Amino acid sequence: MASVKELTDSVQQDVAKVWPHTGRIWPGVDFSDHQVLLSDGSTTYALDAKGMKPVSAQDLKQNKIDIPSPDSFDVVTWQGKPALIIRPAKDLGAGQKADPTGLTAREPAYSFGLASHEQFHPYVQNAPKSPWTSLQKLEKSAGDRTELYPLKPEPRIARAMVYNSLLSALQQPKERDAFLAEAAYWNTKWTKNYPEDAEGQEATDLLEGTAKYFEQSAIAMAAVDRPGDPAQVRAYLAKTLKPMKVASKGIEPYAIGTVALLNADAKGLDVKESLTTEPTTPLAALLKGVKPAGSQSAPADVTRGIEQGVQASNKELGPLIEPFVADVQDKSKSVLMLPVESVSGSVGGKGFYTTEELPISITPKARATFKSKTGTVRVDGATVGEIDEDDKGYFAVPLDLDDADAALDGTRLTLKAEGLSGTVTVKAATNDGQQFLYAQ
Ligand SMILES: [Zn+2]
Repeated sequence: MASVKELTDSVQQDVAKVWPHTGRIWPGVDFSDHQVLLSDGSTTYALDAKGMKPVSAQDLKQNKIDIPSPDSFDVVTWQGKPALIIRPAKDLGAGQKADPTGLTAREPAYSFGLASHEQFHPYVQNAPKSPWTSLQKLEKSAGDRTELYPLKPEPRIARAMVYNSLLSALQQPKERDAFLAEAAYWNTKWTKNYPEDAEGQEATDLLEGTAKYFEQSAIAMAAVDRPGDPAQVRAYLAKTLKPMKVASKGIEPYAIGTVALLNADAKGLDVKESLTTEPTTPLAALLKGVKPAGSQSAPADVTRGIEQGVQASNKELGPLIEPFVADVQDKSKSVLMLPVESVSGSVGGKGFYTTEELPISITPKARATFKSKTGTVRVDGATVGEIDEDDKGYFAVPLDLDDADAALDGTRLTLKAEGLSGTVTVKAATNDGQQFLYAQ
């Protein structure tokens, strides 16, 4: 894509082809009047199923919309209608790496998929008038999305094999029952052998599994010549989706939910209604009554790929997580506390981890902007941790106030590091001999 105008034009064509028919993907869902704003930071367009038009800075201001950082998005209301504003990556996807699993589409399908997925969360699953009671029930008992660092390969192999078995069932419908039994074997192994890894995952499996299925189905409908033909949509995805041979706990809920629902469709199983009300997952709904196959072993390329990936991840995460954990526990360091409620737009980063020494949710290479009455702090690559205090969530970042990158003058904090910059007024508090600076 050479320009944001070309990208808008392409996304508009997909939206026109698919969004008036979203009820075919998920019963009752109608995106026919949903809006998308696409901006490169200076030029912005609005689009919907009917067309596209340029948007002025004044229009954005009148609709109280801020343009997000590059490669991020925000749920907004545009002229009274449900909308998502997307600011694509600076190169408009030119340098985007191909995802070997096929789960991440390349531009321009990427932006169309994002616009579909990220509107499914607020306007379908959490629709103010009819939120999914299934998610509300699961979120009460949900763990978090964190993975214990250092990472282990075994639970990743089991989950990848759940997905790979379901993908084989989709690709070889004649052997479907045998592959579903294999998926059930791997799922039982995961929940029985790695309970700490499986605990609290149902909420994410349901939330992201259904949203990714919606996204992937929309992308497939835009790509095929008969979008109203579910068999064509499934055949398209059976080709674009590839077996998982890499370790990524974060991707598993998306991947497994998508292929579980495609298999349910292929079998003619009506599970969607129950997923909105019952505390279950797409996988559990599909495998209800399926007897697990006997002992299975993973193909050598899957085992090797995941073992190598886990090793490489531990090596990469070590320098990002270990100094963070040490600094937060070092009483000579101060900790900046940024209220989660003051985050403007989306929060990005390199996953969610936790450690035995410091059992909080840690995001390396975080990206987020905090805006309050007293200032703005931009996190762009620093590691942050999430801490709850008195029912209020904070992003915590350790600071070395002796450093040139962080200066406290009275109550005014100035940050000049590459990954952490801005100025804000703070309120200092001492807890167990350590200084905490609460952004005001
Ligand atoms: Zn999502």
